[in-house]
Amino acid sequence: MRPSIRLGRIFGIEIGLHYSWFIIALLIMFSLSGHFHTVNPQWSAGLTWSLAAITGLLFFASIVAHELSHAAVANARGIPVKSITLFALGGVANVERESSDPKSEFWMAIVGPITSLVIGLLFLAIARVAGWRPMAGTPPAPLWAGLVWLGYINISLAVFNMIPGYPLDGGRVLRSIVWGINRNLVRATKITAGVGQFIAIAFIVFGFFRFFYTGAFGGLWLAFIGWFLADAAGASQAGVEVSAALAHLRVGDVMSQDCPAVDSNVNLRTFAEDHLLRTGRRCFVVTQGGRQLGIVTINELKRVPRERWPFTILADILDPLEHVPKVSPDTALADALQLMAREEVNLLPVISNGRLAGVISRGHVVQLMQTQAELKAA
Ligand SMILES: [Zn+2]
Repeated sequence: MRPSIRLGRIFGIEIGLHYSWFIIALLIMFSLSGHFHTVNPQWSAGLTWSLAAITGLLFFASIVAHELSHAAVANARGIPVKSITLFALGGVANVERESSDPKSEFWMAIVGPITSLVIGLLFLAIARVAGWRPMAGTPPAPLWAGLVWLGYINISLAVFNMIPGYPLDGGRVLRSIVWGINRNLVRATKITAGVGQFIAIAFIVFGFFRFFYTGAFGGLWLAFIGWFLADAAGASQAGVEVSAALAHLRVGDVMSQDCPAVDSNVNLRTFAEDHLLRTGRRCFVVTQGGRQLGIVTINELKRVPRERWPFTILADILDPLEHVPKVSPDTALADALQLMAREEVNLLPVISNGRLAGVISRGHVVQLMQTQAELKAA
């Protein structure tokens, strides 16, 4: 999920807000001030609203702490987390890649609900020390009201996140357990997504049932959560199907080997007119006395202003082969795609026995998937 607004960094991890977060922030503020007002009608509007704002802010901090705990475990296990986005139903840590073993996945997932539970108990403990007595009914003092609400909401957050529907934390925990048993990530994801969809449908049915028979708005809220879960489970299933389609393919199966050689002393105008336009090829191997220096595509050419083309040679605009990320023909296609995403490039040189064997581009993979989809539909 792409954040709409960037808030800043904590421990090098960027914190962002998705626009849907504002809807929920407003809802929480309104329902909190309503709650405080019913419990303590003698409070002034100013006190009610400022307490609602402070409580809302602390709630927001609790969610960030939950996500940061995911990020901390991920980083400790060698899976970099660049950013955290907060949206309507909580937060997501944008992990760069999936964990490579079930144990990492398990700890990465379960640490979030544990953190929320600990924060919740902490708030209740503080309220208790401050004089709140759970048996004596709702607390009258402003301080406790917020603390108690924060305590219960964080505990609910821990429980909600442990619902075993992927991609919720509970779904990830379930997936890591199934994965640890059957050692097959694709099947584990499918099974967990199936469980997630089942739970989602149960939420929707139960939610609507409650809404229509009791008129409780909580029912609609449940149905909304169910709809979100169904959507997410469907997306993760589609994602795993794509990776399953690519799973058995290696770079060598898909790469293109027809990159013609061109000398490094050729200037850019000659390159454009005599090579690029005449052959219609998109990538060229730049050589110097039989040595392969690197790959040049139309993208490198476009970075140089056209009037400089006659005075610039290919050697000047080249990213030397030893400095760019590369793959081998045996690299799994999925890994190559991940590398392209991470390095933000569209093309990777394929090296075999120290020589350039070809190139692989995102375009190749997209074409391949279109062909597969067309064949399936036929
Ligand atoms: Zn979580």
